[in-house]
Amino acid sequence: MREFNMIIDGKAVSAVRGLEVVNPASGRPFAVVPAASEADVDRAVAAARAAFPGWSGTVAAERQRLILALADALEANMPELMELVTRETGKPLGGLNGVGAGMEVGGAIAWTRVTAALELPVEVIQDNDEARVEVHRKPLGVVGSITPWNWPLMIAIWHVMPALRAGNTVVIKPSELTPTATLRFVELANAILPPGVLNIVTGERDIGAAMAAHPGIDKIVFTGSTPTGRKIMQSAAGNLKRLTLELGGNDAGIVLPDVDPKAVAPRLFAVGFHNNGQTCACLKRLYVHDSLYDEVVSELARIAREAVVGDGMMSDTQLGPVQNKAQLRYVHELVEDARARGARILSGGEMPTGDGYFYPPTIIADAIDGMRVVDEEQFGPVLPVIRYTDLDDVIARANDNDNGLGGSVWSSDIDHATRIGMRLECGTLWVNEHGAVQPDAPFGGVKQSGIGVEFGRYGLEEYTSIQTVKVMKR
Ligand code: NAD
Repeated sequence: MREFNMIIDGKAVSAVRGLEVVNPASGRPFAVVPAASEADVDRAVAAARAAFPGWSGTVAAERQRLILALADALEANMPELMELVTRETGKPLGGLNGVGAGMEVGGAIAWTRVTAALELPVEVIQDNDEARVEVHRKPLGVVGSITPWNWPLMIAIWHVMPALRAGNTVVIKPSELTPTATLRFVELANAILPPGVLNIVTGERDIGAAMAAHPGIDKIVFTGSTPTGRKIMQSAAGNLKRLTLELGGNDAGIVLPDVDPKAVAPRLFAVGFHNNGQTCACLKRLYVHDSLYDEVVSELARIAREAVVGDGMMSDTQLGPVQNKAQLRYVHELVEDARARGARILSGGEMPTGDGYFYPPTIIADAIDGMRVVDEEQFGPVLPVIRYTDLDDVIARANDNDNGLGGSVWSSDIDHATRIGMRLECGTLWVNEHGAVQPDAPFGGVKQSGIGVEFGRYGLEEYTSIQTVKVMKR
């Protein structure tokens, strides 16, 4: 079993106790990482605080150069990082429509390069005989990053790179279920960055909670579930930490009557099932117009039955296992609830026997609002398909949910679809697409899907505070 160390102040740090990391394709551990203590968190925060004056005082061009060097290091180690991502998450190296570990590491590299190139220009509000007024963006200090298990390396990069680019120092805590790729990335980064600029502690929720409450951390960026987001918000109140919270989603997609069912079904399947549905902004509730409902569900079920589910290390695997046993049980529970309440399970829906946390891609027809699988975030390889006839009614139903991450409308009339879609209460609307994010466009949730945005200039600004400078000229 491979053993990993934490990195604090540029040095490898072990712990008395270890945490086993399980490969969900086998159900057996493949790595051991340290179980940090609260004293380790204190040490990591102290190292980050000590490194802050030097790092924030480094000219932007030098920080950009070092961040580009991080991208090169990720690229040079891509095969190893892909394998760690596949072993810890179960996602295939390749995957359905190329959504797998290769995309995760490739995305991490792309995001790093785009983020390195972002600028924080001084804005001039007034410049006349009386005064010059400028708006400057300054780093916040120490950023604490807490990440989930679904896209562990990618999300770590989404947190760390803008924080560093803006001049902050960082302490990161990856999910205890998927820490290995992030540990390796931080090790690689510490060969490039000054000591203390990027530190990693590994542990369970108590270590995340210690970070959220820590007086030496100025901001928490958190991606994970909404209940955990609420707890972090409460703990962060002690020193009024800045927060970016990227939380759960229960994204609705609405298929209008003017689409070709055969052409749209593979695209709907891809956006509902990539990474086994374990993506925050996956399609999670599909509303299909009555006139083409039967054709769309039977096409989806056919595609689901043909999907290749298996160990992500095998080259032909499209969908891997569910990442952990608790999630597997939860997903099956939602399916059983829908079955008991009269839904038709057109594909999958059976808990396989054998090793690993595999679950067959499951299409649920005759799902209705009020069923748990529609109202709750399933976060697994299951898609409920709901019938509708009236457009105003379906928009109201799509909006009748506490989440507001993404939403989509599918139609051959893109102007009409855009007008309809903008009535959805969500942070991102996609038309004839779902869940595709990019490093230069803001992404975040409304309602209980989060606070703040990531990516591009808007995302970078969240790692800064404003200093207004007014200089009198007379
Ligand atoms: P989770 O909330 O259980 O855990 C996420 C992280 O928080 C882990 O590192 C965990 O150790 C830590 N944690 C747990 N309790 C804590 C506490 N009290 N204080 C501080 N830290 C604590 O989430 P998960 O199951 O790992 O991830 C799945 C969820 O993440 C889904 O709801 C999904 O929609 C969401 N997600 C959202 C986005 C987005 O961008 N909006 C992206 C990916 C995943």
